[in-house]
Amino acid sequence: MLRAFVIIWLAWLLGGALPGQSAGSEPLPIEVIQQLPDTTLRLAFHFEALPDGRNFVTDPNDSLLIAHGNNEKLRADILIYYVLQELNHRFRTGMVDYAPSRDTKIRFALVETLDSGIRGASFYAHGERPVHVPGAFNVIFRYHPGPRAPNGSTGGVGSTTIYIYNALQTYLAGSQDTWSLARNIGHEIGHALSLDHTFKCDNPCAGQGFDPLEECYGDCVPHNHGSDKINCFGGSSRELMMGYGSQVYLTVCEVERMWGWLLR
Ligand SMILES: [Zn+2]
Repeated sequence: MLRAFVIIWLAWLLGGALPGQSAGSEPLPIEVIQQLPDTTLRLAFHFEALPDGRNFVTDPNDSLLIAHGNNEKLRADILIYYVLQELNHRFRTGMVDYAPSRDTKIRFALVETLDSGIRGASFYAHGERPVHVPGAFNVIFRYHPGPRAPNGSTGGVGSTTIYIYNALQTYLAGSQDTWSLARNIGHEIGHALSLDHTFKCDNPCAGQGFDPLEECYGDCVPHNHGSDKINCFGGSSRELMMGYGSQVYLTVCEVERMWGWLLR
């Protein structure tokens, strides 16, 4: 549905194919992308309870706790608000190495369709199966019992499911950090839109804004399943979103590849 929508508006915008451009050919160059209107990807949030039944705070009256200090907990709707703010800020200002603009032209907003107390959000008991919303990236907050749980994961290129692990415990403990979470979500969406880790040895964007060896302390890995036995965390001196570390920036090549995927 997302794909159809993007193709329809691009066809409308361009009045047909670009000269020399057809489906599946070279990605659009950044100069052309900059002339496109912003395109908005929709997000649906799914909150799964912990094994003990606790879930994200939803009741506006819980804000009373804030007034009394100490027990302050981040409400789910506030969390969603700040995650969207941060994601949109990243994708509006995070492109490097292109002097005219830092804008990827990709934006994020909530799905319109979910019928629940908090717009764009669904809440589940522990072990209950989330209801996937079509036409959206489904961000699922899940408890992960493993000692080495990743921050997040996705099914890979073309997936519309993003898992975020073990975030709830930190918010129930009083964390207010929504920016790290948003950057994790941006990283996983980058994978879904065809991007590799910056420390993947055969990354198609290698040499165009980063060197996989520099991204991982003189090593690189042959797959996208984390950094395996090599610890790449914090190795991105360029603070690239698809590396492990600050996850702030995207290169021109990466932006062109994401658009190539959206318009394929
Ligand atoms: Zn990754």
